[in-house]
Amino acid sequence: MAATPLTTPNAHLLQKTHHSQSHAFLKPKTAFHYPTSRKPFSVSCSSTIQDRPSLQSQSQDRVFNFAAGPATLPENVLLKAQTELYNWRGSGMSVMEMSHRGKDFRSIIEKAEADLRALLNISEDYAVLFLQGGATTQFASVPLNLCQPDDTVDYLVTGSWGDKAFKEAKKYCKPKVVWNGKSENYMRVPSFDGLELSPNAKYLHICANETIYGVEFKDYPVPGNPNGILVADMSSNFCSKPVDVTKFGLIYAGAQKNVGPSGVCIVIVRKDLIGNAQEITPVMLDYKIHADNNSLYNTPPCFGIYMCGLVFEDLLEQGGLKEVEKKNEKKAGILYNAIDESKGFYRCPVEKSVRSLMNVPFTLEKSELEAVFLKEAEKEKMVQLKGHRSVGGMRASIYNAMPLAGVEKLVSFMKDFQAKHA
Ligand code: PMP
Repeated sequence: MAATPLTTPNAHLLQKTHHSQSHAFLKPKTAFHYPTSRKPFSVSCSSTIQDRPSLQSQSQDRVFNFAAGPATLPENVLLKAQTELYNWRGSGMSVMEMSHRGKDFRSIIEKAEADLRALLNISEDYAVLFLQGGATTQFASVPLNLCQPDDTVDYLVTGSWGDKAFKEAKKYCKPKVVWNGKSENYMRVPSFDGLELSPNAKYLHICANETIYGVEFKDYPVPGNPNGILVADMSSNFCSKPVDVTKFGLIYAGAQKNVGPSGVCIVIVRKDLIGNAQEITPVMLDYKIHADNNSLYNTPPCFGIYMCGLVFEDLLEQGGLKEVEKKNEKKAGILYNAIDESKGFYRCPVEKSVRSLMNVPFTLEKSELEAVFLKEAEKEKMVQLKGHRSVGGMRASIYNAMPLAGVEKLVSFMKDFQAKHA
């Protein structure tokens, strides 16, 4: 490239006309020789910033992460994000650097929404919002947006997240607990027939999958009020299986279990329910403001939404949620079988018909072995198996992105451990 003649005081700055020239490490095949070595060796740096490292070498560096969330993400999604991190699709910048309301980010959020709509077959009757604040914020946003202070709402409590949601709602309306599994240590979902649902409740709230106790709804109750709606916290089983969205008025899910990093919360809400927020509702929490602005109000968590988009794309590439569900059933099946066939060495207290496909809690008969179990598992690169502090024991979270190989490895570890310690 011809040098620019130095005609103005700052002309020398203009000579670096090509951006990448100032980043020698990005140049393809740059080799250097270590001068003091008798046998010179060369380190070549190819243009790998844009190439994917091989899956195999990447896997060897990584652990099997059984955390309940933030949790393991699909390897190919991480690698794709890595290739796009430095320069998102030729924009010359990363997603973190672009305007959160500009056209590039708009295209990212629109694609994420379109893919989620395709995955869950969400009709235009529903708005899809990508919000900040995690699922906990929705414990307040839901009552603030859907009812007035004197309205009655029902909560069916099958675990501590449902209980938290109920307690938060008490600040904004008149919630009633229609069933609470606490006295039985949250190990089942009640029969819907015997429930005393309020005939005037604006909504019935459930937590579709209780992350701590591992209790998952396999079908859904119908609200007592014919004009009421079903609301579900799906944080820990979102996109793990097909769901008939039309059964719900509102679904919310923190992203950091199945579909992305922490900091994004997805709300799917029937459009006719939007626009009746209580007067005290902060703008941050008002669904209408977000729906009217395509989720771009209030500084959307852009990188998180971008990651969710990559996950949705990946799930579609896997054949959609029916295929994903099959994989999840297989993984959960081999783990629960191992527990049930251990002759009491391991135990899962949850009723079989409602055992979660995502979070598998289990205890050891000899609880004094728990610390050893965790330590030895960690040595085998299986981490975050400790149960929630409120229940103890173990918990293996096996979200969509946990490979079958991870569950198989855990199961053989459990069998070996039992053989050693029985
Ligand atoms: N609901 C469920 C079912 C959860 O597992 C969690 C925990 N992450 C929450 C709500 C709270 O979510 P967040 O951390 O996103 O506020």
